[in-house]
Amino acid sequence: MSYAPSAPSDLSAPSDLDVVDLAPALEVARKIWGFSELRPAQAGAIQAAIAGRDGLVVLPTGGGKSLCYQLPALLRDGLTVVVSPLISLMEDQLSALRENGVAAGMLTSTMGGAERAEVYRQLERRELKLLFVAPERLVLDGFTDLLERVGVSALAVDEAHCISHWGHDFRPEYRQLGQWRQRFPDMPTMAFTATATPQVRADMIEQLGLRDPVQVVGDFDRPNLTYRSLPRADVVGQVKRLHAKHTHGAGIVYCLRRKDVESLTAQLRAQGLDCAAYHAGLPGDERRRVQAAFRSEALNLVVATVAFGMGIDRPDVRFVVHASLPKGLEQYAQETGRAGRDGLPADCLLLYSGADFHGWKNMLEGGGDPGAEANGLERLQRMWRFAASATCRHKALVEHFGQSYDPGDGCGACDVCLGELRRVEDAQRVAQMILSCVVRCRGRGAAHVSDVLRGRDTAKVRQTGHAELSTFGLLSEHSQRAVRSFIDQLLAQGHLGQRTGTYPTLFLTQAGHEVLQGEPVELFLPPDAPKSSRKKGATEVAPADADLFERLRALRRSMALEREVPPYVLFNDATLRAMAAARPTHREAFLLVKGVGETKADRLGPAFIEAIASYLAEHPEELPSS
Ligand code: ADP
Ligand code: ZN
Repeated sequence: MSYAPSAPSDLSAPSDLDVVDLAPALEVARKIWGFSELRPAQAGAIQAAIAGRDGLVVLPTGGGKSLCYQLPALLRDGLTVVVSPLISLMEDQLSALRENGVAAGMLTSTMGGAERAEVYRQLERRELKLLFVAPERLVLDGFTDLLERVGVSALAVDEAHCISHWGHDFRPEYRQLGQWRQRFPDMPTMAFTATATPQVRADMIEQLGLRDPVQVVGDFDRPNLTYRSLPRADVVGQVKRLHAKHTHGAGIVYCLRRKDVESLTAQLRAQGLDCAAYHAGLPGDERRRVQAAFRSEALNLVVATVAFGMGIDRPDVRFVVHASLPKGLEQYAQETGRAGRDGLPADCLLLYSGADFHGWKNMLEGGGDPGAEANGLERLQRMWRFAASATCRHKALVEHFGQSYDPGDGCGACDVCLGELRRVEDAQRVAQMILSCVVRCRGRGAAHVSDVLRGRDTAKVRQTGHAELSTFGLLSEHSQRAVRSFIDQLLAQGHLGQRTGTYPTLFLTQAGHEVLQGEPVELFLPPDAPKSSRKKGATEVAPADADLFERLRALRRSMALEREVPPYVLFNDATLRAMAAARPTHREAFLLVKGVGETKADRLGPAFIEAIASYLAEHPEELPSS
């Protein structure tokens, strides 16, 4: 973790907070959550909260933001109010807190009158430590009066970028928080987000009226995610392979358009995969049904537009496939960030094509706002360079968020560092052939240039007479996929440009001319099939544990069903894996498993311990020999 590395001017010196004693916080983390340590950013945020300071906490998805406001709420007297944009997010947090034995409540517009009245009574009796509310509720007069009467000790604003126009998810209701702050000017307030751009950060501070906020910016790398990027081909086959690789947990496939969602869903179903479609064009009932099934683990594969997003906090998403290019790296990071929130290994596969780039570009150009257009194009270009070039993907992402990253001898978790991208030996010559073919074909698109280079006899080749060109058939030994990939790489590197018209056409840039004159260039062959990866520190289930892990998962599901909560609220997969490895058969040993707090040990422990004991009875050969 670093304290706002990209904006040193507005950081408050961390040293004055270093003196804040974290021992009581650690004790609560252990007792309630079963966590033996705080992550560095959590420690920083919690120290700021204990000191009563305002704060801005920027952590990637899965970074552990909720603990940063839930834990201080238990340390301080009185009530902490948490503002959250979505009911589903509030419900999950509430269930998770209650399972841990914490007195928490929520108020939403969907609750019945009696239910709401009960929460009001609990507030009057000062029984709650945490209250989750939607931002629009805070400005209802009656509610604010009540809070004034019962007293509020602190405010936490989750997904705080929703307050900013500059963010990717502006919500007008969040603007009202400014007013609310004026009524409670002295209340310590912390804002949380995964959006790191300085502009959005500054806007959050201003809109929320944060005073001299402590800024804690977590590490943006997600080491358990393995990133791969390929020119799009065989989407169905790629999804099938990932689905087969990950026998547990869930997958999300993002498509650009609703009709792509529909057709891919149909194709995957035809292949026998159990999946559902999700996009904003579906009836509300159907969308709620899909979300609920996904949360309860009844459904594990969703094909969706980005409408399937916030509120999806199932931690065992094992893969995210982008079936087309996102419009920027922020979006890409956010969407892939939904994978592996439990810290276990997960795969992120990006399947792109030059056509996606042009689709976005046309959309941006049609927007009518030159400022937004330039900004959008810049983001799009960065996304494109990320997709089609061969630099370490962890490094590229982390650096995009303004942090530095040194993979040393490779990150071990991207296609580039895993050596899956094979270097083309005579890249210089191949690039020159492609570039001169582009010049000779004059104003043609990538498909045609590729056909000419591969010496194909198509109608268009005959019609243009391009079989006579000196570059005809020069790359006949390469597959179409390889040649299209080379063209994409040259585009991403800026050696080729693309003009939009009825269809996109290629042209040579200044940089491209330099390659023709001998500037060095690199090209990579697209891989045939993904190899398995092993990230340093990433844990895989040992074969001996797999059976037990499977049983514990089944038990979790049935207990969750009974308790009417999503399964991950009970224990996440990381905890179940630790349990399957440690095989505790009594309460003390059970408590030592990471992610098991005292309340859960009491309430859930007996059933899990029994399952472990009966598994061991059936497998005496697996009992420890001592
Ligand atoms: P965010 O809201 O930032 O996306 P969460 O609060 O959902 O992240 O936390 C992500 C995951 O990390 C959860 O599964 C949580 O149990 C786990 N986690 C958080 N803090 C710790 C910790 N100190 N030790 C171990 N696991 C943690
Ligand atoms: Zn790498």
